[in-house]
Amino acid sequence: MTAPICPQCEPENPAARYRDTCLIHGERSVWDEVQQERERAHAKHGKTSMEALPDTDLTRLTVLMEEVGEVAREFNEARHRAHQMGWATADAFGPAERASLRDELIQVAAMAGAWANALTATERPS
Ligand SMILES: [Mg+2]
Repeated sequence: MTAPICPQCEPENPAARYRDTCLIHGERSVWDEVQQERERAHAKHGKTSMEALPDTDLTRLTVLMEEVGEVAREFNEARHRAHQMGWATADAFGPAERASLRDELIQVAAMAGAWANALTATERPS
């Protein structure tokens, strides 16, 4: 017997997930963490946070790119560790490094989501 497919995924889609392990709609989805990160960042940065800037302010891009850069830093540090140890880069990602990479990706998603939400909130009729 096969596990039930996630009811929110299209069953014809080859990427459809099983209900209990669906990473898009299941309990392991990252969206709650993304929202919490938005709230944490806004509490930390206040008037200069991604939540507070005008929707097309170029500062938004610098905030987002800073977070993307921190993802790149995780890989660059892994590359150096791997080189020192004679490993493949992927082998330099232990549990702590994978957690750090995941944290940075959540921050990227939070900043991109905040920006997209700002544009949605200020949509103008065409
Ligand atoms: Mg970061």
